[in-house]
Amino acid sequence: MKVFVTRSIPEKGLRKIKKRYDTEVNPEPRRLEKEEMIDAVRDKEALLCTLTDMIDREIIESGKDLKVISNYAVGYDNIDVEAATEKGIAVTNTPGVLTDATAEMAWALMLAISRHLVEGDTFVRQDRFEGWDPTLLIGTELKGKTLGIVGMGNIGQAVAKRAVGFEMDILYHNRSRKPEIEKTIGAKYLDLETLLEDSDFVSLHVPLTEETRGMIGKEELKIMKESAYLINTARGEVVDEDALVDALRRNEISGAGIDVYADEPYGANSDYYDLDNVVLAPHLGSASHKARNGMAEMAAENLIAVLEDGMPENIVNPEVLKEEIR
Ligand code: NAP
Repeated sequence: MKVFVTRSIPEKGLRKIKKRYDTEVNPEPRRLEKEEMIDAVRDKEALLCTLTDMIDREIIESGKDLKVISNYAVGYDNIDVEAATEKGIAVTNTPGVLTDATAEMAWALMLAISRHLVEGDTFVRQDRFEGWDPTLLIGTELKGKTLGIVGMGNIGQAVAKRAVGFEMDILYHNRSRKPEIEKTIGAKYLDLETLLEDSDFVSLHVPLTEETRGMIGKEELKIMKESAYLINTARGEVVDEDALVDALRRNEISGAGIDVYADEPYGANSDYYDLDNVVLAPHLGSASHKARNGMAEMAAENLIAVLEDGMPENIVNPEVLKEEIR
């Protein structure tokens, strides 16, 4: 069977696939254009792709023999799952293995923005540091502050658990209540509006869906405290970026830590660049050796399970395997 891998992923995963199948890996360190993707999947049984590959209906329909699209990511908003399901193609993802890495990135952004870490780094490199200064880059402590988590799934819960160590109060908003996490760490469930009103830090951990697109817009940012910070490691489009840039410019909120952008896979929003009250990361949530190796292994195992007529551990549209293949 033939497999196409759109970007070079860690060998731990690639090896498993290469051992079993005729495997073609995009040799170039770049995202492929749509026409190249269409050509590549034409004669393949399996596609292993990353979140920067926009797998739309046209690409899916050009893969006449495709059985599985294995996404090297937990979010799968880059794939037209409906089109894949119609064609009986399984779509899989990699939840869990990147939870801690992404939660730590949310914390890195929270600490960096609240303590002016990036501004401080620039200040030192510009040779402006002339010794301790009682008024230099005064920030906000986390202890005793309120953290509002929007999306209390794997990553949201990992972020919440770490907040206990910082002695913060924890609020959350989620599609469904999580009694277990309320009991174990004392997180309090609130509607989104009240959470935004009461939080000193708001951290986003929902997937990008039709319901969550633009979930944080002008109105929501207005509800937040002037002293509050917004952290986004979810997906860029969960936030209305123009509204956020505006709110940051007018100091309607204190700052933001951003890992993800609405314009991905093409880049970030350059309107952020001249703002001091934002820390920007280039989508590094899962960028730890452990997480990326785990994702590679999981993506390979998911793909193999489908090609071997099994049920992968992580499948987004299980109805396909129940009805079409088995
Ligand atoms: P997850 O375990 O599926 O958690 C998502 C949570 O969001 C679930 O608890 C879900 O509620 C909740 N949710 C979904 N729709 C909602 C809505 N409309 N309103 C309120 N809550 C809603 O996923 P995860 O592993 O934590 O990952 C979350 C997202 O993080 C991914 O989808 C991905 O986009 C992003 N991510 C980014 C990076 C990065 O590199 N920056 C890395 C990994 C993941 P239920 O419990 O009711 O289903």
